Amino acid sequence: MPLDGTFTYSVPQQLEGQVQAGVRVLVPFGRSKTYVGIVASTQGECPLFEERAQRQDYRGSVPSVSQIKSIIQILDSSPILTDCQLRLWQWISDYYMSPIGDVMKAALPSGLKAEDGYRPKTETFIRLTPKFSSEQTLHIALDILQRAPSQQKAFIDFLSLSSIDQGQDLQASCDSISRDELLNQGHTIATITSLVKRGILETYEQEVGRLNNGGDPHPENIKPLSTTQQDAFNQIQFSFLKKNVTLLHGVTSSGKTEIYIHLIQQALNRKQQVLYLLPEIALTVQMMERLQRIFGCRLGIYHSKYSDAERVEIWQKQLSAHPYDVILGARSAVFLPFRNLGLVIVDEEHETSFKQQDPAPRYHARSAAIMLATLHSSAPKVLLGTATPSVETYHNATTGKYGLVELFQRYKGIELPEIQVVDIKDLQHRKMMNGPFSPLLLLKVREALARGEQAILFQNRRGYAPLIECKQCGWVPRCQHCDVSLTLHRSLNQLTCHYCGYTYQVPTECPACGCKELQTRGYGTEKIEDQVRDIFPEARISRMDLDTTRTRHAYERIINDFSAGRTNLLIGTQMISKGLDFDRVSVVGILNADTMLNYPDFRAYEHAFMMMSQVSGRAGRKGHRGLVILQTKSPDLPVIQQIVDNDYSAFFRSVLAERHQFRYPPYCRLVYVFLKHRSDSLVATASQEMGGRLRQWFGTRVLGPDRPSVAKVKSLSIRQLMLKFEPGLNMSELRRYLTLIRQQMLQDKRYSSLQIYYDIDPL
Ligand code: ADP
Ligand code: ZN
Ligand code: ZN
Repeated sequence: MPLDGTFTYSVPQQLEGQVQAGVRVLVPFGRSKTYVGIVASTQGECPLFEERAQRQDYRGSVPSVSQIKSIIQILDSSPILTDCQLRLWQWISDYYMSPIGDVMKAALPSGLKAEDGYRPKTETFIRLTPKFSSEQTLHIALDILQRAPSQQKAFIDFLSLSSIDQGQDLQASCDSISRDELLNQGHTIATITSLVKRGILETYEQEVGRLNNGGDPHPENIKPLSTTQQDAFNQIQFSFLKKNVTLLHGVTSSGKTEIYIHLIQQALNRKQQVLYLLPEIALTVQMMERLQRIFGCRLGIYHSKYSDAERVEIWQKQLSAHPYDVILGARSAVFLPFRNLGLVIVDEEHETSFKQQDPAPRYHARSAAIMLATLHSSAPKVLLGTATPSVETYHNATTGKYGLVELFQRYKGIELPEIQVVDIKDLQHRKMMNGPFSPLLLLKVREALARGEQAILFQNRRGYAPLIECKQCGWVPRCQHCDVSLTLHRSLNQLTCHYCGYTYQVPTECPACGCKELQTRGYGTEKIEDQVRDIFPEARISRMDLDTTRTRHAYERIINDFSAGRTNLLIGTQMISKGLDFDRVSVVGILNADTMLNYPDFRAYEHAFMMMSQVSGRAGRKGHRGLVILQTKSPDLPVIQQIVDNDYSAFFRSVLAERHQFRYPPYCRLVYVFLKHRSDSLVATASQEMGGRLRQWFGTRVLGPDRPSVAKVKSLSIRQLMLKFEPGLNMSELRRYLTLIRQQMLQDKRYSSLQIYYDIDPL
C-alpha cells in the first residue's frame, strides 16, 4: 500500500527460525484485513519493546507488547527478493520521495504480490491408456475404429505425431503429444473425447513454461570490430578501470550495439550477468533478434508488454540456479534479481521514457541502474550509450564524473544524411504547400519510391486532426474531464481525449450555433496517411503510432514488414525515431519541427534536437547517403542549424550557456510540486499557501504556483510549483523539510483531500 515505512510483526513460535528477509508472509493489517507483505528485516528484539523498556526506567510502568500482531503464515520457503533489491527499493523510496509501498507495486509483477495471483501454465496432453499400450492392442484399436472414420483418422495422426509406429519398439517412442498438436491437424475436441471414452487414449494436464527457449548460443556470430570500434572498445575498458559510469557517445550507426555485444560476451566469459536497458519496446524487437542470434537461450527479455505470468517466470528463473545471463528489458527490468551482475548497459540513455511519470515512484531508470550497480558487491560497471546524450549526462561526462568515449564515424564510413531545411511559412504564403507537404518533400519521396527505395514521414501527433472547429463561430469540442481540446480519430469515427482516454461522438452540428460545417485543423498521423494514399496510390504504406501498436505483435509486424520491404512508406510518431535499423530508407521527412520547438518547457530544444537527430539517423544506413527534408516555420533558429550540421557539441554549448544563465539543470536540482483537487478554487488557495510555506524555508528558490499548460486532467485541477536547489545543498535534509511541509499542509482540515506530491529531477 502507498504507506511510508515498514511495520513490525512478531514471529509466532511455530514459525520461529523460518522467517527471513525477502520472503512473503500473510499478515493481519488494520482491523480485520489480511495482506501479503514482504519481510524487510528480522530482529531478535522487538524495537517497540526496547523503546518502552527504556521508558519504563523512569516511568515505572510495565510495557505491553500486545499491540504487536503476529505473522499468520509464511508463503515462500526461500526469499523472492535479494538484499540488493530491497536496498534499491529503499533508495528509490528515499530519493524520489515515494512510499516504499509504491516502489513495491512498480517493482513486483502482480503475480508475486498476492499468494494466489500466479498460476503455472498447464497444457492438456494425450497418451495411450496402459490397456492399449502394446503392439497387439494397437491393432485391435485400429480395428475397432474401422466404423468411426474421423476417430480412426485422429488416432492415426496421433500415432504418427507421437512417432508410435506399429512394429516399432513402443518404449522408444515419445508417447504423448499435446492436445493442441492434434487439434492443429483439424481434429475436433469431440473426436478426441470419443477416443478417450473408448478407453484408447487418455488426457492429462502438465505444467509448461511460458518462456521460450532461444536455442543454443552462437558466439561465433559476433562480428569483429572495425579499427575505430576496437579503439572505442579499448577506451571503454580503460575507462571502467577508473570510473563506475562511462558514456559512449557515438553517432547513429557507428556500431555502438556491436561494441555492447563484445562487452556482453566479455562479461559472460567472466561468468557475470548483464542487464541491457532499452527505453521502450519499439526497439526491443530488432534488438532481441540481434542478441538472440548470438546469446540464444542465455538471453531473457523483460518488459511491460509481456504478460504478468511471463514476468513472474522470468523473476523466478533469475532466482533459480540457472538464471538468464543477459537480461534485455525496459525500465522495470532494473527491479529483477541478479546474482552476479557484471555490466549494466543503458542504451539510448537520453530517452525520457526511462523516467516513470505516473504513478509514483517517479524514478529514472538510468539513475536507478547506476544505483543498482553500486549496491552489488560484484562492482558492475555502467555504460550509457547514445548518439545524442542528455545534457545532464554529457555534463557529467565532460566534467569528469563519468568516463567519456566518442565515436564520430558511421560504420564503413557511410556519411551521415544530408539535411535540407524547407521554410514552410514562406511556401504557405506563396500557396505552394500541398497540405502538410512541401513540393521538395513530395518530389524526393516520389523519386525514392520510383528507385525501389523507402521513405519515412515523421509527424509527432497521432489521430486524424488535433482539432475540429465550427466554421461559423469557432467552437471547439473539449474534454469534459480535462482542460484540452479533443483529437479526431476518423477511422474510429470518434473524438478522443489524449489525456484521460475518454471518447466522444463526433457532433454533426455545432452545439453553439447550429452550423453544420465543422472543419478539421492540423495534421495527425492518420490524416497524413490518408493524404499520402491519395498522392501516392501505388505506395505500400504503413503507420506506426500508439493507435496501431496496441499489441506486441502489431509492433513486430509493422517493423518486420518495413524491414523486409513489404511496405515502402512508413508514417509515424516519435516511435519510429527509436534506434530502428532499416536498410533501404533513403528519404526521411520531418513534417513539422515547430510543435517540438515551441513546446513550453526549458528542455524543448534539447528534446527537439534529439528527436530530429534520431529520426534523421534512420536515413541512408547502407549503401549511400540519405536525405532528410526538415520542414519548419523557423529555419533561422540556431538549433535548426545545429541539427543540420549534426553538431552536438555546438548544441550542447549553447544549451549549457542558457541553462547557466537561467539556472536550470545541470546548474541546479529541480523539484516540481504538484497539487491536485477536483475543486479549482481549493487547489488555487492551497497552492498559494504551499508556496508561502515553501518560501519560509527556501526563499527565492521557490517559483510559482502556476497553472500548467494542461491545468485539468481527469477532473482534477492542477497547480505546480518549481523548486531550484543549487548544487552543494544537503538533499536529504531538504527532503526532510519537504516531507514536513507536505504533512503540515495535509493536516489542515481544508486540504485533507488534496493530492500533493513532489517530482524529483523532473523531465
Ligand atoms: P548503432 O548502435 O551505433 O546505431 P549499429 O551497431 O546498429 O550502430 O550498427 C549499424 C549497422 O552497421 C548494423 O547493421 C551493424 O550490424 C553494422 N555494423 C556495425 N559495426 C559492424 C562491424 N564491426 N561488422 C559488421 N557490421 C557492423
Ligand atoms: Zn458554431
Ligand atoms: Zn480528458
